[in-house]
Amino acid sequence: MTAIHPNDALSLVLADLPPPAQEILPLDKACGRFLAKKVYAKIDQPPFDKSAMDGYAHCAVGPGLSGSWRVVSVIAAGDSPGKPLGTEECARIMTGAPIPAGAYAVQRREYAREDSGSVWFTRTESCDNIIRQGENQKSGDLLLSPRRLKPQDIGLLASSGYSTVPVTRKVSVGIVSTGDELTESGATLAAGKIYDSNGPQIAAQAAELGCDAKLFGIVRDNLTTLSDIIGRTIAEYDVTILSGAVSLGDFDYVPQTLEALGVKELFHGLKMRPGKPTYYGRIGEKSVFGLPGNPVSTFVNFEILIKPHLLKRSGSNENPTELVLPLAAPLTRKGDDRVEYLPAKLESKPTRVRQLAYRGSSMLSALADADCLIRIDIGVESLQEGDPVHVRLIRP
Ligand code: AMP
Ligand code: MG
Repeated sequence: MTAIHPNDALSLVLADLPPPAQEILPLDKACGRFLAKKVYAKIDQPPFDKSAMDGYAHCAVGPGLSGSWRVVSVIAAGDSPGKPLGTEECARIMTGAPIPAGAYAVQRREYAREDSGSVWFTRTESCDNIIRQGENQKSGDLLLSPRRLKPQDIGLLASSGYSTVPVTRKVSVGIVSTGDELTESGATLAAGKIYDSNGPQIAAQAAELGCDAKLFGIVRDNLTTLSDIIGRTIAEYDVTILSGAVSLGDFDYVPQTLEALGVKELFHGLKMRPGKPTYYGRIGEKSVFGLPGNPVSTFVNFEILIKPHLLKRSGSNENPTELVLPLAAPLTRKGDDRVEYLPAKLESKPTRVRQLAYRGSSMLSALADADCLIRIDIGVESLQEGDPVHVRLIRP
């Protein structure tokens, strides 16, 4: 097991990934999915000159609004604009209705008095209250570039006449928890056993990214069963994530099982805490991650390595939010030979970051309270209050 720097590990997990497959979805199924290609406006937006106000469309230019004007038509939203306006004629017009030919501006209803088919204006407005055809977009303009679709994007696509949209297919992720000590949550806990928290946590992390996550449940530390379940996961899923049994213990069978299944190891061991025995391998287009079983370890490894991998496979260009902030309190750690990630919380007034009380990578409660991870680089053993540190946000 030769440990490599997490930056090198990141390059390896991002290398040589298959391009995401695509599918066409109706708009009501597409929010949160990744747009697969650029989309162009099908029509001008708005498609015609339209009134921004309820009021009167008239053909007076500049300040020539005095006197009375004959109301020759009423134009509602959805109507056709009707016949062109002549001199001293105007049309009572509603918001969103098309502007009749010959009209120069719309005078809002609040500044007008109408009686017996004629109207007088009490104030002259400086703007024309007309939204011009193509003012927001012209037909053929770029509407959206590939990104995760938001509700506003769905609205934009619908406004241009799209009823479907090309998105990338969801990446499928099979998750297996290994360990004789594991019990499914909800069941009674016997002596010496613990609940499987990694399986549900990893599945939630993958689902949060928009992947199709399938939990295979708990597999005992037994070579035959492991080989059977892992073989099935690899065959059926794009990415397999295993927790536990990747280290040097007597029953850590994952690396040898993967080797026997023909998985090519790309690294086994990281200069990172938590996450020293982490494994990554490939078999064809399929990927396999083996994470050490401590719950903080699986979370951090997912965040640093698996998340970018899954996002790239999903066709996403999203990057984690990283900041440099001053430390709220001094910090000392054991040794300086690994990159370390520590659960932490952001503070405001002044903006800084504080490490949470943390007794190692089994302490899930510290992680649950955290909204970010402090990164400490190789060669740094202690830091003073106010020293700048790299911070990665882990809240959505
Ligand atoms: P391992 O990587 O299998 O040596 O496990 C390291 C530590 O993580 C041990 O204390 C395990 O009991 C614990 N652990 C392993 N798998 C899980 C899991 N699925 N959920 C919670 N803790 C686990
Ligand atoms: Mg184990």
